[in-house]
Amino acid sequence: MQTSPKLIINLAKIKHNAARVLRFCSLKEIDVIGVVKGCSGLVEVAKAFIAGGIVNLADSRIENIIEFRSAGIKNEVTLLRIPRLSNVKNVIEYSEISVNSEVEVIKSLGYYAKMKKKIHKIVLMIDVGDLREGILEEELFDTLNYIKNIEGICLYGVGTNLGCFGGVKPTRQNLNYLVNIACKAEKIIGSSIEVISGGGTSSLTLLENNEMPNEVNQLRVGEAILLGTDVTNNKNFEWLEQDAFVLETEIIEIKEKPSVPFGEVGRDSFGNKPKFNDKGIIKRAIVALGKQDLYLNGIMPKDNKISVLGGSSDHLILDITNNDNDLKVGDTIKFDLGYSSLVSATCSKYIQKEFVGEI
Ligand SMILES: *Cc1c(COP(=O)(O)O)cnc(C)c1O
Repeated sequence: MQTSPKLIINLAKIKHNAARVLRFCSLKEIDVIGVVKGCSGLVEVAKAFIAGGIVNLADSRIENIIEFRSAGIKNEVTLLRIPRLSNVKNVIEYSEISVNSEVEVIKSLGYYAKMKKKIHKIVLMIDVGDLREGILEEELFDTLNYIKNIEGICLYGVGTNLGCFGGVKPTRQNLNYLVNIACKAEKIIGSSIEVISGGGTSSLTLLENNEMPNEVNQLRVGEAILLGTDVTNNKNFEWLEQDAFVLETEIIEIKEKPSVPFGEVGRDSFGNKPKFNDKGIIKRAIVALGKQDLYLNGIMPKDNKISVLGGSSDHLILDITNNDNDLKVGDTIKFDLGYSSLVSATCSKYIQKEFVGEI
């Protein structure tokens, strides 16, 4: 039996978003890699990407990619998190491309690829300022000279990641810098590099503003297709659907209570010091949802007259004072999810998943 909480996933909307992103990028001669990791690599969602016309997929987890293969997905897949040295065998077996920044790992990839009589494609990650993965420019010469002699791999592209750790936005300037590095790399290895991969969803805004350097020919897009949003630039794409994922759960308590706790106040269950605004007596609902289910800071009640007061491991407390519907225990409350909550909700064993929408 299906009980709450439940994540309702509209595959038709995801397909629609995939097709729109693909068309938008193709007008600017940019290939799109569809990144499924934002929903923990759900196979049904990967299939919706493909139904929307996306040919090349990507995920950060080889475990998810193995599930794509078990589900019969034969499309080219890129592994987006630099491989673990302990896992390169699977990377060669199940993915065609991986992003990399460590020569030791690349050497090991080459070794297994050669054993399997494969050529594995490498995208060398360049750090242009966000300070997550990638080599700095001063390492370029030595890195390329080392990897150009490794058999079993080919340097397929250079790429960069932005808007993640450092929150650094993609700009014409930092992507031109990447293009510049690609040119230097071609000189060092003495052949051309097929792909310049200029980031993910946060780079779409540059495209919208016609500020993308012409040489960038690939983006790896997840969030925009899944949620129609861009968390780095704090915006919605008007031309995409924002509600492909809706979380539902039920009310387990409704009480009128004060808005400020009474008694001696220490720390909350997660060790934080809670703060409260005194709004007098308010009507509060507790729903069956908590920090054990998902990251609570990224959820928004669909009804804008309901607000989130806070939550603990298993309880989420809502202010329903201004809600006009006569809400009762057992009624369902719906939430929109931000990226952080989507990632955690799709991993949760407590949240059921229901797929709707024809693809
Ligand atoms: C997650 C990820 C992406 C996709 O990012 P979105 O913001 O979801 O579009 C692209 N590249 C790398 C390396 C990633 O880790």
